[in-house]
Amino acid sequence: MAKSKFEYVRLFESEDRCLPNTWIVVRVDGKGFHKFSAEHNYEKPNDIRSLSLMTHAATSVMEEFKDICLAYGQSDEYSFIFRKETQAYSRRSSKLSTNVCSLFTSAFVYHWSEHFPTISKPLYPPVFDGRTVLYPSDQNMRDYLSWRQADCHINNLYNTTFWTLIQKAGMSPNEAEKILKGTLSGDKNEILFSQFGINYNNEPEMFRKGTLLVRRRVPVPLPNGGTREKSQIIQQYADVIGDEFWKENSHLLASSS
Ligand code: ATP
Ligand code: ATP
Ligand code: MG
Ligand code: MG
Repeated sequence: MAKSKFEYVRLFESEDRCLPNTWIVVRVDGKGFHKFSAEHNYEKPNDIRSLSLMTHAATSVMEEFKDICLAYGQSDEYSFIFRKETQAYSRRSSKLSTNVCSLFTSAFVYHWSEHFPTISKPLYPPVFDGRTVLYPSDQNMRDYLSWRQADCHINNLYNTTFWTLIQKAGMSPNEAEKILKGTLSGDKNEILFSQFGINYNNEPEMFRKGTLLVRRRVPVPLPNGGTREKSQIIQQYADVIGDEFWKENSHLLASSS
């Protein structure tokens, strides 16, 4: 096909292929979800409807992009780990982040009413940002997930104590904030336990640890008595900071290159 004289403008596009043989992580995060959660009357500190909708949207992303081997979500964010060797979109960074982010956002809206049956549709279109980050070593990638899970723990302990002071002790947000200023995690555990009889370790794992979606091959029985392997996405609330999860899921790190 003859090229037009305008074709040269394509040269202004910059090359953004991710380095080969590196872990590609795409993280999406809700824009202004402090406000979005308030306007949609999210239960504080953890609205299960929103967490399950986020995980539903993340599952849609993993069903579409088979090279995502693992996803981790908490609050208004989800991280997607592509296997090191992926050739999806020729590893083009913006193709990967925009496709993941766009599908995540549209699935969040598409499945909204299944999780929020009393609010027929979002009051305004929710927005998620997306970015691609590369991690050259397995340890870097594991440390990335540990960082997000530690963030989940720190925020959730703070939010649980903050909202308990408001909901159970009738404090104003300002008063609760003052009490918590400068406290360490041991202090927050102590406030919860001694004043409200709450053992933080008994709070739901989904809130304390966040949600992991792991792609695994599982055997499925065939009518003739044999089995075949099928890829499945499994949801769990495991600790990713320690070694156990990585031993149980050694296939995630076993690389073909
Ligand atoms: P930004 O646009 O910079 O990301 P943000 O308002 O989204 O700003 P975040 O740091 O991403 O800020 O925090 C998300 C906020 O959304 C949390 O602080 C919390 O108030 C709210 N939120 C998200 N998910 C839930 C949930 N499942 N239940 C209750 N609140 C939630
Ligand atoms: P990629 O994922 O690389 O973007 P693509 O299939 O989306 O691949 P594009 O170069 O973006 O390819 O082209 C979009 C194609 O979608 C067009 O070639 C055309 O076939 C179709 N298309 C888009 N909009 C319309 C429309 N309004 N009416 C009919 N066909 C359309
Ligand atoms: Mg946000
Ligand atoms: Mg966030």
